[in-house]
Amino acid sequence: MKSKQPAQHLQDLQFFGEFGGVNPSISDSSTYTFMTAKSMSDTFEGNTEGCYLYSRHTSPSNLYLGEALARMEGTEAAQTFASGMGAITATLMQLCNAGDHIVTSRTIYGGTYAFLKNFAPKFQIESSFVDITNLEQIEAAIQPNTKILYCEALSNPLLEIADIKALSKIAKKHKLTLVVDNTFTPLCISPIQLGADVVIHSLTKFINGSSDCVAGIVCGSQEFIEAIKSVNDGAAMLFGSTLDSLRAASILKNLRTLPIRMKQHSANAIYLAEKLSSLGLKVGYPGLENHRGHYQMKAQLNEEFGFSGLMTLDVGSLEKANEVMELMQHKNIGYLAVSLGFYKTLFCASGTSTSSEIPEEEQKEMGLSEGLIRFSIGLDNDIEHTFQQMKECLEICKVLDYVKS
Ligand SMILES: *Cc1c(COP(=O)(O)O)cnc(C)c1O
Repeated sequence: MKSKQPAQHLQDLQFFGEFGGVNPSISDSSTYTFMTAKSMSDTFEGNTEGCYLYSRHTSPSNLYLGEALARMEGTEAAQTFASGMGAITATLMQLCNAGDHIVTSRTIYGGTYAFLKNFAPKFQIESSFVDITNLEQIEAAIQPNTKILYCEALSNPLLEIADIKALSKIAKKHKLTLVVDNTFTPLCISPIQLGADVVIHSLTKFINGSSDCVAGIVCGSQEFIEAIKSVNDGAAMLFGSTLDSLRAASILKNLRTLPIRMKQHSANAIYLAEKLSSLGLKVGYPGLENHRGHYQMKAQLNEEFGFSGLMTLDVGSLEKANEVMELMQHKNIGYLAVSLGFYKTLFCASGTSTSSEIPEEEQKEMGLSEGLIRFSIGLDNDIEHTFQQMKECLEICKVLDYVKS
Protein backbone atom coordinates (compact mmCIF):
# COMPACT_ATOMS: atom_id res chain seq x y z
CA MET A 1 0.00 0.00 0.00
CA LYS A 2 1.25 3.44 -0.91
CA SER A 3 1.75 5.51 2.20
CA LYS A 4 -0.17 8.75 2.44
CA GLN A 5 1.41 11.86 1.04
CA PRO A 6 1.96 14.78 3.44
CA ALA A 7 -0.58 16.89 1.55
CA GLN A 8 -3.21 14.22 2.04
CA HIS A 9 -2.60 14.30 5.77
CA LEU A 10 -3.23 18.03 5.71
CA GLN A 11 -6.45 17.80 3.78
CA ASP A 12 -7.85 14.92 5.83
CA LEU A 13 -7.96 17.06 8.95
CA GLN A 14 -11.34 18.25 10.17
CA PHE A 15 -11.53 20.92 12.83
CA PHE A 16 -15.01 22.34 13.38
CA GLY A 17 -16.06 25.46 15.22
CA GLU A 18 -18.20 25.24 18.34
CA PHE A 19 -21.34 26.14 16.34
CA GLY A 20 -20.55 23.74 13.53
CA GLY A 21 -18.42 26.27 11.69
CA VAL A 22 -16.21 24.86 8.95
CA ASN A 23 -13.26 26.55 10.62
CA PRO A 24 -12.39 26.03 14.28
CA SER A 25 -13.42 28.78 16.67
CA ILE A 26 -10.64 31.16 17.63
CA SER A 27 -9.78 31.08 21.30
CA ASP A 28 -9.97 34.72 22.23
CA SER A 29 -8.65 34.29 25.77
CA SER A 30 -5.35 34.51 27.59
CA THR A 31 -6.57 32.50 30.57
CA TYR A 32 -9.06 29.70 31.23
CA THR A 33 -11.39 28.77 34.07
CA PHE A 34 -11.19 25.50 35.94
CA MET A 35 -14.17 23.59 37.30
CA THR A 36 -12.24 22.55 40.39
CA ALA A 37 -9.15 23.74 42.21
CA LYS A 38 -7.70 20.23 41.91
CA SER A 39 -7.80 20.30 38.11
CA MET A 40 -5.92 23.61 38.16
CA SER A 41 -3.03 22.21 40.21
CA ASP A 42 -2.96 19.06 38.04
CA THR A 43 -2.64 21.22 34.93
CA PHE A 44 0.30 23.06 36.47
CA GLU A 45 1.99 19.72 36.93
CA GLY A 46 1.39 19.09 33.25
CA ASN A 47 -0.82 16.03 33.60
CA THR A 48 -4.28 16.92 32.42
CA GLU A 49 -5.46 16.29 28.91
CA GLY A 50 -7.73 18.84 27.32
CA CYS A 51 -7.31 21.52 29.97
CA TYR A 52 -5.94 24.91 29.09
CA LEU A 53 -4.04 26.90 31.63
CA TYR A 54 -2.74 30.09 30.08
CA SER A 55 -2.21 30.97 26.44
CA ARG A 56 1.58 31.28 26.68
CA HIS A 57 1.54 27.55 27.46
CA THR A 58 -1.06 26.39 24.92
CA SER A 59 -4.23 27.67 23.36
CA PRO A 60 -6.80 25.81 21.27
CA SER A 61 -5.88 27.81 18.16
CA ASN A 62 -2.17 27.05 18.53
CA LEU A 63 -2.96 23.39 19.12
CA TYR A 64 -5.00 23.15 15.91
CA LEU A 65 -2.18 24.69 13.91
CA GLY A 66 0.39 22.50 15.66
CA GLU A 67 -1.62 19.36 14.99
CA ALA A 68 -1.96 20.19 11.30
CA LEU A 69 1.79 20.76 10.92
CA ALA A 70 2.67 17.67 12.96
CA ARG A 71 0.50 15.69 10.52
CA MET A 72 2.18 17.31 7.54
CA GLU A 73 5.66 16.45 8.82
CA GLY A 74 4.67 13.08 10.28
CA THR A 75 5.60 13.80 13.89
CA GLU A 76 3.70 13.00 17.08
CA ALA A 77 3.38 16.65 18.09
CA ALA A 78 4.35 20.23 17.34
CA GLN A 79 4.63 23.56 19.13
CA THR A 80 3.89 26.89 17.48
CA PHE A 81 6.04 29.98 18.02
CA ALA A 82 5.75 33.70 17.36
CA SER A 83 8.51 33.50 14.71
CA GLY A 84 10.86 31.07 13.00
CA MET A 85 13.75 32.40 15.10
CA GLY A 86 11.62 31.88 18.22
CA ALA A 87 11.26 28.22 17.20
CA ILE A 88 14.94 27.78 16.34
CA THR A 89 16.42 29.43 19.43
CA ALA A 90 14.03 27.65 21.80
CA THR A 91 14.87 24.28 20.23
CA LEU A 92 18.63 24.79 20.41
CA MET A 93 18.52 26.08 23.98
CA GLN A 94 16.20 23.23 25.02
CA LEU A 95 18.56 20.59 23.64
CA CYS A 96 21.84 22.10 24.88
CA ASN A 97 23.39 22.78 28.26
CA ALA A 98 26.37 25.00 28.92
CA GLY A 99 29.47 23.23 27.60
CA ASP A 100 27.65 21.49 24.77
CA HIS A 101 28.57 21.72 21.12
CA ILE A 102 26.64 21.97 17.84
CA VAL A 103 27.74 20.91 14.37
CA THR A 104 25.92 23.05 11.83
CA SER A 105 25.90 23.73 8.15
CA ARG A 106 27.70 26.98 7.40
CA THR A 107 25.10 27.94 4.81
CA ILE A 108 22.12 28.65 7.04
CA TYR A 109 19.69 31.49 7.56
CA GLY A 110 21.55 34.64 8.66
CA GLY A 111 19.68 34.91 11.95
CA THR A 112 20.44 31.30 12.88
CA TYR A 113 24.07 31.86 11.96
CA ALA A 114 24.28 34.99 14.12
CA PHE A 115 22.64 33.20 17.04
CA LEU A 116 25.09 30.29 16.92
CA LYS A 117 28.13 32.44 16.21
CA ASN A 118 27.52 35.43 18.49
CA PHE A 119 24.87 34.62 21.08
CA ALA A 120 25.02 30.95 22.08
CA PRO A 121 28.74 31.21 23.03
CA LYS A 122 27.65 33.52 25.89
CA PHE A 123 26.26 30.32 27.42
CA GLN A 124 29.32 28.22 26.51
CA ILE A 125 27.45 26.61 23.63
CA GLU A 126 29.95 26.51 20.76
CA SER A 127 29.32 25.61 17.14
CA SER A 128 31.41 24.21 14.31
CA PHE A 129 30.35 25.44 10.88
CA VAL A 130 30.80 22.81 8.18
CA ASP A 131 30.10 22.18 4.51
CA ILE A 132 26.92 20.12 4.96
CA THR A 133 27.52 18.24 1.70
CA ASN A 134 30.87 16.95 3.00
CA LEU A 135 30.12 13.98 5.29
CA GLU A 136 33.77 13.45 6.23
CA GLN A 137 34.09 17.04 7.36
CA ILE A 138 30.94 16.62 9.47
CA GLU A 139 32.24 13.46 11.20
CA ALA A 140 35.57 15.16 11.85
CA ALA A 141 33.82 18.11 13.51
CA ILE A 142 31.89 15.95 16.00
CA GLN A 143 33.25 16.16 19.55
CA PRO A 144 32.41 14.16 22.70
CA ASN A 145 30.19 17.07 23.82
CA THR A 146 28.33 17.49 20.49
CA LYS A 147 24.56 17.35 20.96
CA ILE A 148 23.03 18.61 17.74
CA LEU A 149 23.56 18.22 14.02
CA TYR A 150 21.81 21.19 12.41
CA CYS A 151 21.00 21.98 8.80
CA GLU A 152 18.48 23.34 6.34
CA ALA A 153 16.97 20.81 3.91
CA LEU A 154 17.57 23.29 1.10
CA SER A 155 19.94 25.97 2.27
CA ASN A 156 19.69 29.72 2.31
CA PRO A 157 20.79 31.31 0.00
CA LEU A 158 23.09 28.96 -1.89
CA LEU A 159 20.50 26.23 -2.37
CA GLU A 160 22.74 23.44 -1.14
CA ILE A 161 20.99 20.14 -0.54
CA ALA A 162 21.47 18.21 2.68
CA ASP A 163 21.56 14.42 2.37
CA ILE A 164 19.21 13.90 5.30
CA LYS A 165 19.42 10.09 5.25
CA ALA A 166 23.21 10.20 5.47
CA LEU A 167 23.12 12.90 8.15
CA SER A 168 20.65 10.81 10.13
CA LYS A 169 23.05 7.86 10.08
CA ILE A 170 25.83 10.05 11.42
CA ALA A 171 23.52 11.53 14.06
CA LYS A 172 22.42 8.07 15.25
CA LYS A 173 25.98 6.79 15.38
CA HIS A 174 27.07 9.68 17.62
CA LYS A 175 23.76 10.02 19.53
CA LEU A 176 23.07 13.52 18.20
CA THR A 177 19.70 15.13 17.59
CA LEU A 178 19.30 15.89 13.90
CA VAL A 179 17.44 19.20 13.58
CA VAL A 180 16.33 20.22 10.09
CA ASP A 181 14.98 23.66 9.11
CA ASN A 182 12.55 22.83 6.29
CA THR A 183 11.38 26.40 5.62
CA PHE A 184 12.38 26.37 1.92
CA THR A 185 10.80 23.01 1.09
CA PRO A 186 7.48 22.40 2.86
CA LEU A 187 5.73 19.33 1.35
CA CYS A 188 8.59 18.99 -1.18
CA ILE A 189 10.82 17.27 1.38
CA SER A 190 9.69 15.27 4.44
CA PRO A 191 12.77 15.25 6.72
CA ILE A 192 11.25 12.99 9.39
CA GLN A 193 10.66 10.23 6.83
CA LEU A 194 14.34 10.56 5.92
CA GLY A 195 15.51 10.21 9.53
CA ALA A 196 15.48 13.72 11.07
CA ASP A 197 14.48 14.01 14.74
CA VAL A 198 13.12 17.55 14.83
CA VAL A 199 11.78 19.69 11.97
CA ILE A 200 11.46 23.46 12.18
CA HIS A 201 9.71 25.91 9.87
CA SER A 202 9.49 29.62 9.68
CA LEU A 203 5.75 29.78 8.97
CA THR A 204 6.36 33.34 7.80
CA LYS A 205 7.39 32.06 4.37
CA PHE A 206 5.67 29.49 2.12
CA ILE A 207 3.42 27.97 4.77
CA ASN A 208 1.52 31.15 5.56
CA GLY A 209 2.29 32.51 2.11
CA SER A 210 0.69 35.93 2.47
CA SER A 211 3.59 37.94 3.98
CA ASP A 212 1.32 39.39 6.65
CA CYS A 213 2.89 37.98 9.84
CA VAL A 214 5.84 36.13 11.35
CA ALA A 215 5.45 32.71 13.00
CA GLY A 216 7.28 29.43 13.53
CA ILE A 217 6.80 25.75 14.35
CA VAL A 218 8.79 22.92 15.90
CA CYS A 219 7.66 19.40 14.98
CA GLY A 220 8.98 16.49 17.03
CA SER A 221 8.23 13.61 19.37
CA GLN A 222 5.56 13.96 22.06
CA GLU A 223 8.35 13.79 24.62
CA PHE A 224 10.32 16.66 23.08
CA ILE A 225 7.28 18.88 22.60
CA GLU A 226 6.18 18.26 26.20
CA ALA A 227 9.68 19.18 27.34
CA ILE A 228 9.88 22.39 25.32
CA LYS A 229 6.55 23.66 26.70
CA SER A 230 7.08 22.49 30.28
CA VAL A 231 6.07 25.16 32.79
CA ASN A 232 9.17 24.32 34.85
CA ASP A 233 12.00 24.22 32.34
CA GLY A 234 10.61 24.48 28.82
CA ALA A 235 12.16 27.06 26.50
CA ALA A 236 8.86 27.75 24.70
CA MET A 237 7.04 28.48 27.93
CA LEU A 238 9.88 30.42 29.56
CA PHE A 239 11.20 32.47 26.63
CA GLY A 240 7.61 33.34 25.84
CA SER A 241 7.75 33.67 22.05
CA THR A 242 4.14 32.52 21.80
CA LEU A 243 2.00 32.94 18.71
CA ASP A 244 -1.25 34.85 19.12
CA SER A 245 -4.44 32.86 18.56
CA LEU A 246 -5.77 35.17 15.85
CA ARG A 247 -2.61 34.61 13.82
CA ALA A 248 -2.60 30.87 14.46
CA ALA A 249 -6.12 30.73 13.05
CA SER A 250 -5.26 32.75 9.95
CA ILE A 251 -2.14 30.64 9.25
CA LEU A 252 -4.18 27.44 9.57
CA LYS A 253 -6.57 28.71 6.89
CA ASN A 254 -3.71 29.60 4.56
CA LEU A 255 -2.07 26.22 5.18
CA ARG A 256 -4.93 24.50 3.36
CA THR A 257 -3.86 25.88 0.00
CA LEU A 258 -0.16 25.08 0.54
CA PRO A 259 -0.22 22.00 -1.76
CA ILE A 260 -1.47 23.92 -4.78
CA ARG A 261 0.73 26.90 -3.99
CA MET A 262 3.91 24.81 -3.74
CA LYS A 263 3.15 23.15 -7.07
CA GLN A 264 2.70 26.54 -8.73
CA HIS A 265 5.81 28.10 -7.13
CA SER A 266 7.84 25.11 -8.33
CA ALA A 267 6.35 25.06 -11.82
CA ASN A 268 7.02 28.78 -12.29
CA ALA A 269 10.54 28.52 -10.87
CA ILE A 270 11.62 25.65 -13.11
CA TYR A 271 10.18 27.43 -16.14
CA LEU A 272 12.19 30.59 -15.43
CA ALA A 273 15.32 28.64 -14.43
CA GLU A 274 15.31 26.70 -17.70
CA LYS A 275 14.57 29.72 -19.86
CA LEU A 276 17.14 31.95 -18.18
CA SER A 277 19.87 29.33 -18.28
CA SER A 278 19.19 28.72 -21.96
CA LEU A 279 20.24 32.36 -22.43
CA GLY A 280 23.60 31.44 -20.92
CA LEU A 281 22.93 33.08 -17.54
CA LYS A 282 24.34 31.73 -14.27
CA VAL A 283 21.18 30.34 -12.74
CA GLY A 284 21.04 28.28 -9.57
CA TYR A 285 18.00 26.03 -9.23
CA PRO A 286 18.00 22.51 -7.77
CA GLY A 287 15.55 21.37 -10.43
CA LEU A 288 18.21 21.93 -13.11
CA GLU A 289 20.42 18.96 -13.87
CA ASN A 290 23.54 21.13 -13.73
CA HIS A 291 22.82 22.05 -10.09
CA ARG A 292 25.32 20.41 -7.73
CA GLY A 293 22.63 18.89 -5.54
CA HIS A 294 20.10 18.05 -8.25
CA TYR A 295 20.25 14.26 -7.96
CA GLN A 296 20.47 14.40 -4.19
CA MET A 297 17.34 16.52 -4.02
CA LYS A 298 15.52 14.39 -6.58
CA ALA A 299 16.24 11.30 -4.49
CA GLN A 300 14.52 12.76 -1.42
CA LEU A 301 11.78 14.74 -3.14
CA ASN A 302 8.01 14.30 -2.93
CA GLU A 303 8.04 14.83 -6.67
CA GLU A 304 4.54 16.14 -7.21
CA PHE A 305 5.53 19.36 -5.40
CA GLY A 306 8.64 20.00 -7.44
CA PHE A 307 11.91 21.62 -6.42
CA SER A 308 10.34 24.62 -4.62
CA GLY A 309 10.32 28.30 -5.56
CA LEU A 310 13.83 29.53 -4.77
CA MET A 311 16.20 30.43 -7.59
CA THR A 312 19.43 32.40 -7.75
CA LEU A 313 20.90 34.44 -10.56
CA ASP A 314 24.48 35.66 -10.50
CA VAL A 315 24.72 38.89 -12.50
CA GLY A 316 28.41 39.50 -11.79
CA SER A 317 28.55 42.43 -9.39
CA LEU A 318 26.57 44.10 -6.65
CA GLU A 319 26.08 47.23 -8.77
CA LYS A 320 24.58 45.13 -11.57
CA ALA A 321 22.41 43.23 -9.11
CA ASN A 322 21.04 46.47 -7.65
CA GLU A 323 20.39 47.91 -11.10
CA VAL A 324 18.56 44.79 -12.28
CA MET A 325 16.49 44.52 -9.09
CA GLU A 326 15.42 48.15 -9.20
CA LEU A 327 14.36 47.83 -12.82
CA MET A 328 12.46 44.58 -12.18
CA GLN A 329 10.60 46.29 -9.36
CA HIS A 330 9.88 49.28 -11.60
CA LYS A 331 8.38 46.95 -14.20
CA ASN A 332 6.34 45.25 -11.45
CA ILE A 333 7.88 41.81 -12.04
CA GLY A 334 8.22 41.57 -8.29
CA TYR A 335 9.38 43.39 -5.19
CA LEU A 336 12.83 44.21 -3.90
CA ALA A 337 12.29 42.62 -0.50
CA VAL A 338 13.69 39.94 1.77
CA SER A 339 11.59 36.91 2.75
CA LEU A 340 9.92 34.39 0.45
CA GLY A 341 6.83 32.40 -0.34
CA PHE A 342 4.65 35.35 -1.35
CA TYR A 343 2.26 35.32 -4.37
CA LYS A 344 4.47 38.02 -5.86
CA THR A 345 8.08 37.32 -6.81
CA LEU A 346 10.51 38.72 -4.23
CA PHE A 347 14.21 39.33 -4.83
CA CYS A 348 17.22 40.53 -2.88
CA ALA A 349 21.01 40.45 -3.09
CA SER A 350 21.67 37.90 -0.35
CA GLY A 351 25.20 38.93 0.51
CA THR A 352 24.16 42.42 1.58
CA SER A 353 20.77 41.49 3.06
CA THR A 354 19.61 38.17 4.46
CA SER A 355 23.14 36.82 4.82
CA SER A 356 24.83 40.07 5.82
CA GLU A 357 25.44 38.59 9.30
CA ILE A 358 28.00 36.30 7.66
CA PRO A 359 31.39 38.09 7.36
CA GLU A 360 32.53 38.91 3.82
CA GLU A 361 35.50 36.55 4.03
CA GLU A 362 33.27 33.61 4.95
CA GLN A 363 30.74 34.54 2.28
CA LYS A 364 33.52 34.27 -0.30
CA GLU A 365 34.68 30.95 1.08
CA MET A 366 31.21 29.42 0.80
CA GLY A 367 30.73 30.74 -2.72
CA LEU A 368 28.27 33.51 -1.95
CA SER A 369 29.22 36.05 -4.59
CA GLU A 370 28.09 39.67 -4.28
CA GLY A 371 26.26 39.69 -7.62
CA LEU A 372 24.01 36.85 -6.49
CA ILE A 373 20.30 37.70 -6.58
CA ARG A 374 18.01 35.37 -4.68
CA PHE A 375 14.51 35.04 -6.09
CA SER A 376 11.45 33.65 -4.45
CA ILE A 377 9.35 32.98 -7.52
CA GLY A 378 5.72 33.97 -7.16
CA LEU A 379 2.43 32.46 -8.26
CA ASP A 380 2.40 34.34 -11.59
CA ASN A 381 -0.47 33.22 -13.75
CA ASP A 382 1.39 33.95 -16.98
CA ILE A 383 4.98 32.95 -16.39
CA GLU A 384 5.89 33.18 -20.10
CA HIS A 385 5.07 36.89 -19.93
CA THR A 386 7.13 37.24 -16.74
CA PHE A 387 10.07 35.64 -18.51
CA GLN A 388 9.83 38.07 -21.43
CA GLN A 389 9.79 40.98 -18.99
CA MET A 390 12.78 39.62 -17.07
CA LYS A 391 14.70 39.11 -20.27
CA GLU A 392 14.00 42.69 -21.24
CA CYS A 393 15.35 43.94 -17.89
CA LEU A 394 18.50 41.86 -18.28
CA GLU A 395 18.98 43.23 -21.78
CA ILE A 396 18.52 46.83 -20.67
CA CYS A 397 21.01 46.31 -17.82
CA LYS A 398 23.41 44.63 -20.26
CA VAL A 399 23.61 41.47 -18.16
CA LEU A 400 23.24 39.38 -21.29
CA ASP A 401 26.24 41.19 -22.87
CA TYR A 402 28.22 40.46 -19.76
CA VAL A 403 27.37 36.76 -20.05
CA LYS A 404 28.39 36.62 -23.70
CA SER A 405 31.69 38.44 -23.22
C1 LIG B 1 13.06 33.36 7.55
C2 LIG B 1 13.79 32.16 7.96
C3 LIG B 1 14.00 31.86 9.31
C4 LIG B 1 13.56 32.80 10.41
O1 LIG B 1 12.17 32.90 10.49
P1 LIG B 1 11.39 34.19 11.07
O2 LIG B 1 9.97 33.78 10.97
O3 LIG B 1 11.78 35.36 10.24
O4 LIG B 1 11.86 34.36 12.49
C5 LIG B 1 14.66 30.70 9.62
N1 LIG B 1 15.11 29.86 8.67
C6 LIG B 1 14.93 30.11 7.36
C7 LIG B 1 15.45 29.15 6.35
C8 LIG B 1 14.28 31.27 6.95
O5 LIG B 1 14.13 31.52 5.65
